[in-house]
Amino acid sequence: MRYSKMLIPTLKEDPAEAEVISHKLMLRAGMIRKLATGIYSYLPLARRIFNKVEQIIREEMNRAGGQEVTLPSVQPSDVWEESGRWNLYGKELLRFKDRNSRDFCLGPTHEEVITDLIRREIRSYRQLPLNLYQIQTKFRDEIRPRFGLMRGREFTMKDAYSFDADESGAEESYNRMFEAYTRIFERCGLEFRAVEADTGTIGGSFSHEFMALADSGEDAIVSCDSCSYAANVEKAEIKGTDFVSGDRPGPRKGMNKVSTPGMKTVEEVTGFLKVTSRDLVKTLIYETDKGAVAILVRGDHEVNEAKLRSVLGCNELSLAGDETISEVTHAPRGFAGPVGLGISITADNAVRQMSGFVTGGNEGDVHFTNVNLDDFKVNAFADIRMVTKDDPCPRCNGKLRLSRGIEVGHVFKLGTKYSEALGATFLDANGKEQLIVMGCYGIGVGRTVAAAIEQNHDKDGIIFPVPIAPFQVLILPINIDKNEVRDTSEFLYRSLNEEGYDVLLDDRDESPGIRFKDADLIGIPIRLTVSKRTLKEDMVELKSRRTGEVVLINKDSVLDEIRKRLSG
Ligand code: ATP
Ligand code: MG
Repeated sequence: MRYSKMLIPTLKEDPAEAEVISHKLMLRAGMIRKLATGIYSYLPLARRIFNKVEQIIREEMNRAGGQEVTLPSVQPSDVWEESGRWNLYGKELLRFKDRNSRDFCLGPTHEEVITDLIRREIRSYRQLPLNLYQIQTKFRDEIRPRFGLMRGREFTMKDAYSFDADESGAEESYNRMFEAYTRIFERCGLEFRAVEADTGTIGGSFSHEFMALADSGEDAIVSCDSCSYAANVEKAEIKGTDFVSGDRPGPRKGMNKVSTPGMKTVEEVTGFLKVTSRDLVKTLIYETDKGAVAILVRGDHEVNEAKLRSVLGCNELSLAGDETISEVTHAPRGFAGPVGLGISITADNAVRQMSGFVTGGNEGDVHFTNVNLDDFKVNAFADIRMVTKDDPCPRCNGKLRLSRGIEVGHVFKLGTKYSEALGATFLDANGKEQLIVMGCYGIGVGRTVAAAIEQNHDKDGIIFPVPIAPFQVLILPINIDKNEVRDTSEFLYRSLNEEGYDVLLDDRDESPGIRFKDADLIGIPIRLTVSKRTLKEDMVELKSRRTGEVVLINKDSVLDEIRKRLSG
C-alpha cells in the first residue's frame, strides 16, 4: 500500500480522553476513532491488525477441530427467557422492541442462540462432539466502558461452544481449547498466564482466564515462583489450617470492655490500642438474599466476595447499609463485633488461629480486648478472604507473586446448564435421551490488540509483534523526486510485495522528520530508508523498530535480509 492513498490520521499530541497507553497510541496512530462512549470505528490500520489476529485465531480454532459459523447479533427475548437470563442479565443487556412490539436484545454472548440451534439440529450421539465458533460483534452496555478497545460496549469477540456426549468428552474439548488459546496468544506475541478463575455457581476447576500481564490490567492475579500454579485473586485458594500466622499468643482469659471514642477504622482502633492489625478481628455485616450475616476476618485481611458468595450459597451479597448495621449490632458503623451478636457468623480460617484479639463492642465508642473464640459462637469457618503476597502457594508452599493482568480470553466448562434449560438432548448408543454437555470459550479481539500494545511500546509509539503488525515493512524514501531514490524504492516495494510481504511505501509529500515520527508511532517492525546518500554506495538503511538497531544493506541483498529477519 501507498501511504499517500491510505487513511492513517496520526496525531501529534496525546488525546486527553485516553488514560492507558494502548488507548492513547491507538488514537494517535490513527487506528480507531470514537463514535460514542465505548463504540469505535476501526480505521484501515486497525482493520489490518484485526485481520491478522483473526487469522491466527481461525487457524488455531480450525486446527483444534472448530467450525466457523455466524450467528445473529439481534436476538429475540424468547431464548433468553428460556435460559432465565432475560431477567438475570441486568442492564448490560441492551434491549429493544421491533415494529411488532416484540422484545429483542443485542447479543452480549451467544449461549442461548447456539443452544437453540443445536437442540434443533442434533439428534444422535453420532453427531457429537461438535465445536462451533464465530468472530463477531458483541454489545454489552457496560457500566464503565473505558480504556478504548479494552472495555468497550461494542467489541469483537471470538466465541466458541463445544458440545459433547459426556463429561469426559467435555473435559477433552476443554483441554483442546486450552491448548488452542495458548497457541493463539503465543503467536500474537503476548506475555500471558492462564490462571484458574472463579466458576461461580457452576463449580469445578474448569475455568481459566488467559491474562496478558500488564500493570494497567484490571484484574489482580497470583502466580507461584516454584510451580505452575496461577489464579485470579478472586479464586486463589488459601492453604488450609496448617499455615502459621506468625507468633500467636497463648489464650488469655478475661475479655475487657474499653472505651474507643470515635475510633472506627482498623487503623484508628489499632493505633489507639497500640496493637497491630493482626491482633484485631474485623466484623463485617453483609446483606444477602438469605438475610443479614456477620463475617469475621483478621484485621489485615480482606473479604473475598466471590468465595463468600459460594460459601454462603447466596445470589445476592452486599455490604449492609447503616440502617441494617444499627439494627443488628445496636451500634453505629465501626463498632460491630461477634460477642452477643444475634445473627449467623461465618469466620475466615485465619480467625480460628487467633486468641486474645480485639473486636467491636456492639455499642457506640466501645471495643473489646482479650476476646477469644469461646466468647461467641461461629456458625462456620471457611476460606473467605483475599490471598496476600505473604500466603504460601496452595499447591507447593512456594512463594506467591502478585501481579496485574488483562483478561484476553476465557475458557469455561458450562456442563448442562444451557442444555437443560433449553432442552438440548441427544439419543445415546442405547437410544436413551441425554443432555448435551457444553463448554464456552471467548477471546476479545480488540482487547488482545490493546494488550499487545500495552506490552510492546516505547516513548515513540507502538512496537508491533511481527505476526500482528499491520505491515511488516515500511519503505521510507528521502527525496522521492530523485530518480535513483524513486526507482530503488519502487523496486523494493514491488519485489517485497511479490514475495507476499505486507509493505507500506511512505510516498507522502511530508518532511522526513514527520515521516520518521509516524513510522515509529505506527510501529512497523522493519523500516527501510532509501536516500541518495546511502545509494551512492548502493546501500539502503534498515532499522529494527524493536531494537532500534540500524544497519546498511546492499540494495540487492535487502530481500534476503528481510526474508531472514521475518522468517519464524
Ligand atoms: P470482564 O470480566 O473483563 O468484564 P467477562 O468475564 O465479562 O470480561 P467474557 O464473558 O468471559 O468476559 O468474554 C470473553 C472475552 O471477551 C473476555 O475474555 C474479553 O477478552 C472479551 N471482553 C469481554 N468484555 C469486553 C469488553 N467490554 N470490551 C472488550 N472485550 C471484552
Ligand atoms: Mg470472563
